[in-house]
Amino acid sequence: MPWLTPVLERFAQDLDQGRLPHATLVHGERGVGKRRLAERISALLVCERRAVGSGEPCGQCRQCQLVTGDSHPDIRVYQPEKSRMVRIDQVRALSQFAVASPQVAHFKVAIVDRADQLNINAGNALLKTLEEPAADVVLLLLQETGRPVLPTIRSRCRILPLATPRANVATGWLSAQLAGRDEVPGTDDQALALHLAGGAPRLALELLDSGFLQQREAALDAFRQFMKGGVSVAVAARAFRDLGHEATLNLMEGWANDLARSMAGGDARDPGISEVVKYLAAGNPPWRAQQLVDAIRESRRALVNNVSPELETDRLLIQWQELMPRRRRAG
Ligand SMILES: [Zn+2]
Repeated sequence: MPWLTPVLERFAQDLDQGRLPHATLVHGERGVGKRRLAERISALLVCERRAVGSGEPCGQCRQCQLVTGDSHPDIRVYQPEKSRMVRIDQVRALSQFAVASPQVAHFKVAIVDRADQLNINAGNALLKTLEEPAADVVLLLLQETGRPVLPTIRSRCRILPLATPRANVATGWLSAQLAGRDEVPGTDDQALALHLAGGAPRLALELLDSGFLQQREAALDAFRQFMKGGVSVAVAARAFRDLGHEATLNLMEGWANDLARSMAGGDARDPGISEVVKYLAAGNPPWRAQQLVDAIRESRRALVNNVSPELETDRLLIQWQELMPRRRRAG
C-alpha cells in the first residue's frame, strides 16, 4: 500500500523528534487502509532498531518478530464485535492496558477500530484515558469518513486524514493483489469494483472477493423492477438478502448519495443506478435525497438494537418507491 508511506514517514519523524501525539484520529474512506496504517504505525513504534528517519521497522529485532507473529503484548486492538459497537467493557480494558507498564516494548499502542462506533457511555469512558494520558501509551483511533465521532473525543486527538490514492496507484495495487490467483477477475470487473468503492483499494478487493458484484447485479435488477411496480416489496427484498444487511445498507447509501449527486447535476458513481436516479432527480426536491440518506443511517443504528434486517430492507425499499410519480407506482 504505497499511499501509506508518506504518513508513516511523518510518524517516524515525530517519533525521532520526540513529539509524538498521545492520540491520533485517522480518518478516511471505508476500505482505504486505515487499519493497515494503524498496524504499521504500531510496528514502527515498538521496533527497537529502526533507522532514524525511516518509516519502516527493522523487521529483525525481538519486537518486530512479535509483531510479525501477531502476538505483541503491547499492541491491542479494540473493535466492534457482534454488537457492531465498541462496548464499554472493551474501553475499560483499554483504560487498564493504558495505565499498566509495557511488557516488552517502550510503548503501548491501543487501536480503536472504530472510534465512530462508540456509544455515549463507551465514549465517556475513553475520554478519561484521553484526558490523563500515561506517557508511554499511544492511541490510534480510526474513523470512517461520514460517520461522526463524539466531539469531546475528536478535540483531544491529532486529526490525520488518510487520502484515497490516485487512480493509477489504486489500480496497480489492486491488480498486484489479484495476480497469480486461479481466477483473476477481468479488468472491467476490477475497474467497476474500484469505481463502486470510490477508489478505495482495500474495499474494491473486498467487493471482488465477496461476490458483491454478482449479488449487486441481482439486487439492481429487482430494484429497478420494484420501482416500476413490476414486483412486490417482498420479492425485491429477497434479492437483497444474499448481500447481507450491512452490504445492502452500503449499497443503498451509495445509491442515495448518487441521487443527491444527480440532483446537483453530477454523475452517479454506480453506473447501474444512473438512469433510475436521473429519473428520480427530475421529479423530486433535493431534500428527498437527504431524507433517504438519513433513513439508511437510522437503519444502521436500529440494527444495533437487533431490529429485523428484513423489515428494515422493506421499509427502505418503500421509501425509495415513494419518490416515484404516483401513476408509475400504481402500474
Ligand atoms: Zn525491529
